[in-house]
Amino acid sequence: MNLHEFQSKQLFRDFGVAVPEGRVAGTPEDAKTACAELGGSRWVVKAQIHAGGRGKAGGVVLAEDATEVVDVAGRLLGSRLATHQSGPAGLPVGQVLVEQPTAIARELYLSLLVDRAAERVLIMASAAGGMDIEQVAAQTPERIIQVHVHPAAGLQPFHVRRLAFGLGLEGGQIKSLGGILSGLYRLFTTCDASLVEVNPLVVTEAGELLALDAKVNLDDNALGRHLHLQALRDPDQEDAREAEAKAHELNYISLDGDIGCMVNGAGLAMATMDLVKLHGGAPANFLDVGGGATAARVAEAFKLILSDAKVRAVLVNIFGGIVRCDLIAEGIMQAVREVEVAVPIVVRLEGTNAEQGLKMLADSDLAVETASSLTEAADKVVAAAASGAASKGSSE
Ligand code: GDP
Ligand code: MN
Repeated sequence: MNLHEFQSKQLFRDFGVAVPEGRVAGTPEDAKTACAELGGSRWVVKAQIHAGGRGKAGGVVLAEDATEVVDVAGRLLGSRLATHQSGPAGLPVGQVLVEQPTAIARELYLSLLVDRAAERVLIMASAAGGMDIEQVAAQTPERIIQVHVHPAAGLQPFHVRRLAFGLGLEGGQIKSLGGILSGLYRLFTTCDASLVEVNPLVVTEAGELLALDAKVNLDDNALGRHLHLQALRDPDQEDAREAEAKAHELNYISLDGDIGCMVNGAGLAMATMDLVKLHGGAPANFLDVGGGATAARVAEAFKLILSDAKVRAVLVNIFGGIVRCDLIAEGIMQAVREVEVAVPIVVRLEGTNAEQGLKMLADSDLAVETASSLTEAADKVVAAAASGAASKGSSE
């Protein structure tokens, strides 16, 4: 689960990491109030979306007076902001963060993440922080310092020194970095984060260190033990279908293709996507309906797949080991009747009661094609999607 910048900054404060003073605003009037509360004569207005790259996309604005803050807030709030990280459709801006501006001397990069291969928390830092860090990582990776922390020993003074010297910090800044690192390391482990990123961590003109941006990703599998963090979820920032899937305990991930896939078991779902690709098609989603699939659950899964306008054909690939194929067939029929299905459906059932399930589908008045092998199923669904695309193209 991702957090907004203002939520991440509140966590930073809770763990003793310095961030600029700021207020969250949901309306231009709130933004005006924020200026009055913060004081000063200039403010930074920052769109709150679950994506970085806002600076380059007009989502971070240094406003010269309160009128400009209100104007910028009015322009951003309710709009969608597209950055190189958000994808072309962008993400909705429901809130802006109004902050006191910082006079920046240097922009550094700092992050903590899980290095799965090393089985350690990895701290990365670079003196070349700011908006072009991706370029630094791609072209001059030697400018990124990496330090692994042993989980039993925790953060050590030598880690801090190595990072501080690598960043070119001196005097009191080294001690400051130590405070920031220990706060962020505690945050990372206490909250079960998978990523904590500060880009930029700035050295102010006064020589102080300040987290100017903040990004925290939490491990979904650990959210069960962090009730107060669960409450920070913002469903507006999440793919609507993925959120709907979560509510029905279905594992669904949207993809770019046009062939909807409904499969039981994550491994079979991956294999099915490979198969579709091998036969020249492109999957519209990953979907694992789970081992304990019921007719109702299959119906929900079907509705989910079909709510994606890109889908031109659906491939159902079920291996009935725990689940019974006749129940799956029932779910498919129920869903096809409930939802107005305008695209071809190809079904491959194998395992317990497969024959019975296939017969039920064949006997129904529904336009469902059945297939007995994986290859046949993939061929049929790819052909169906292609002819659907062609007929759609010619009618437009
Ligand atoms: P991102 O582009 O989504 O990562 O948003 P950031 O919060 O990192 O802001 C982008 C850039 O805006 C930063 O790298 C800074 O250069 C600039 N910026 C943000 N806040 C301030 C500020 O208070 N003062 C100044 N001078 N620049 C700022
Ligand atoms: Mn940033």
